Amino acid sequence: MKNRLEIYLEKMQNGGQEVINTSSSPSFMDVDEWSVQFESPISVRGRAYLTHDHLVLHLSAQTVSRIPCSICSEKVDVGVRVPEFCHAKKIGEIKGRVYNYSMLIREAILLETPTYVECDQKCFKREELNQYLCSPHAKDRAQFPFRNLKKMGFAGLVRLYEAHRLTV
Ligand SMILES: [Zn+2]
Repeated sequence: MKNRLEIYLEKMQNGGQEVINTSSSPSFMDVDEWSVQFESPISVRGRAYLTHDHLVLHLSAQTVSRIPCSICSEKVDVGVRVPEFCHAKKIGEIKGRVYNYSMLIREAILLETPTYVECDQKCFKREELNQYLCSPHAKDRAQFPFRNLKKMGFAGLVRLYEAHRLTV
């Protein structure tokens, strides 16, 4: 498996067009955030061609991201699909006549990666969470929203905050 996604302009000169159907190791994803991991291969399809002064790429990609459930922190595998997009790069700006489009794919994948995930459609801990969220029928809970916070610990609080922020 490749570690980088590259196009060699020299190889394109005659045909001027290259079909892309490849798979790369996710090493270039290099995401620092603790919440998302990429361990599955990244497959990329599309085509590249040269115009008078640009390299034009039409690409789509897909992979699997591993994200902790926002409620219980269990890791969940979530498919990420990047619909076809177009990118043009000036030929004069391509150093060494090799265009590395790993970062382009990285950005596109991150844009399509969800930030909120719940395991198995409905997390088994959701019921537990619901009692902390405001509801028009739970007047006393709404008045004492902090009474159970001690039990939750800091990570629980952060997740609760994130989940709540996303549902209001
Ligand atoms: Zn969960």
